[in-house]
Amino acid sequence: MIETRVIPVTPFEQNCTLLWCTASRQAVVVDPGGDLPRIQAAIDAAGVTVERILITHGHIDHAGGAAQLARTLNVPIEGPQEEDAFWLAGMPEQSEMFGFSGVEAFTPTRWLHDGDTVSVGQETLQVLHTPGHTPGHVVFFHPGARLALVGDVLFVGSIGRTDFPRGDYDDLINSIRTKLFPLGDDVRFISGHGPDSTFGRERLHNPYVGEG
Ligand SMILES: [Zn+2]
Repeated sequence: MIETRVIPVTPFEQNCTLLWCTASRQAVVVDPGGDLPRIQAAIDAAGVTVERILITHGHIDHAGGAAQLARTLNVPIEGPQEEDAFWLAGMPEQSEMFGFSGVEAFTPTRWLHDGDTVSVGQETLQVLHTPGHTPGHVVFFHPGARLALVGDVLFVGSIGRTDFPRGDYDDLINSIRTKLFPLGDDVRFISGHGPDSTFGRERLHNPYVGEG
């Protein structure tokens, strides 16, 4: 079994997610964009031990706090897929552009690829490569819990922006329709911003990718 806690971080209210294995209380922190004291408080409140940091994509509100948190907790960083290397390398420029402080460029311990798995205690997350918002964006899926962490691919009633460098609208739509929706209508997802939804609800009602 897994449990999750969403921690909104950065001025962009990005949904950093603490996800843990209830049996072992081993955890991952997904997308620690910043506000590390808030993330640490959530870790302490849950009483879990973080074993790795996972990154969906290289935007600063998702990855800006990763290097510092990895050093503090002495854990590896896994993800995104390496097509996002230019975003991670440009972290200081992103930092300047958006007025963030204390942000460092980094190279993850492990790049992730479509079909990879990541362990969390006794649990396993599946990795899906979902380009479009960024070319190296990945999504994490737990089949048993019917839960996906989709970063900035899909939102309630909306989809990720594709006007950034190397963004691609057709790739994004394709990622949602051929990678995410086939996981099942019952799958709940946590987005990078805003409330949760399910793939079934978006498949019916989302004006960008809906079939309703
Ligand atoms: Zn983004």
